[in-house]
Amino acid sequence: MQQNKTIAAVLAEGKKQLRAAGREDYAAELLMQHVLGVDRTGLLIRLPNELEQGPRNQFLSGIKSMESGIPLQYVTGCEEFFGRTFRVTPDVLIPRPETEELVEGALSRASRIWPSEGSPLRMADIGTGSGAIAVSFKLGRPDAEVTATDISSAALRVAKENAERLGASISFAEGDMAEPLTGGKWDIILSNPPYIAPAEAVGMADTVTGHEPHGALFAEEEGLKHYRTLAHALPALMKRPGLVGVEIGHTQGPAVSGLFAEAFPDGDVKVVCDINGKDRFVFCELLK
Ligand code: GLN
Repeated sequence: MQQNKTIAAVLAEGKKQLRAAGREDYAAELLMQHVLGVDRTGLLIRLPNELEQGPRNQFLSGIKSMESGIPLQYVTGCEEFFGRTFRVTPDVLIPRPETEELVEGALSRASRIWPSEGSPLRMADIGTGSGAIAVSFKLGRPDAEVTATDISSAALRVAKENAERLGASISFAEGDMAEPLTGGKWDIILSNPPYIAPAEAVGMADTVTGHEPHGALFAEEEGLKHYRTLAHALPALMKRPGLVGVEIGHTQGPAVSGLFAEAFPDGDVKVVCDINGKDRFVFCELLK
């Protein structure tokens, strides 16, 4: 039985299904916006219209995927970051709003430390994933020469596609953490490495633990493993002046700032909060 239904009716059904599956029903609205290619106002205007077969099938199959726990962003294949739309696949972590603040913090510090465009700023993003940090930094600071690394070739493919589509000219290098940067000297190194302790997986949302790449989420040594690797590798790679910025778990401020303070005795190391007032970043400024 195929009766025609309004967008409002199909949307209401989708919301009900998501609620029954224990998921936020708001995701249905975002999915409908994506399927129709409209913003929220565009959706509201169209609610009384009939929903055609094509978009209707796309919407219903998206709802089904989300009922099984797949995050909305893997269904739509995109996520907003720093004012731009990035393509995401299950090979990459879905960029988080907190990480926008890492980019903002790096750009504002860079304009203070290197106010004018002199010799090109060399910036590296370690473990780039979707390329969100590297691309956003490059577009905010076009004079920078940006290199993005990742251990996952599948992630690098997604990052390259994002860089090309968004018009950011970036170099890519495959390898573990700072290894691909060996031999170079860098003004700025940023990273949002995996930092969740495996023991914390219990109690995390299944949309995250069941679907996002574990290699981008979890790290041994109570989540600190990759900061230890960075603290060991970065001193040989940084120029003066220089800037290191990493995202951290909210309980990791003292440990990570301690590691960087030890690695960079001449560095000004600070733990910085996110918009929710939680410790979320460590920045280390290296004076000339
Ligand atoms: N901030 C992410 C989360 O809470 C974790 C990302 C990471 O480990 N770098 O899901």
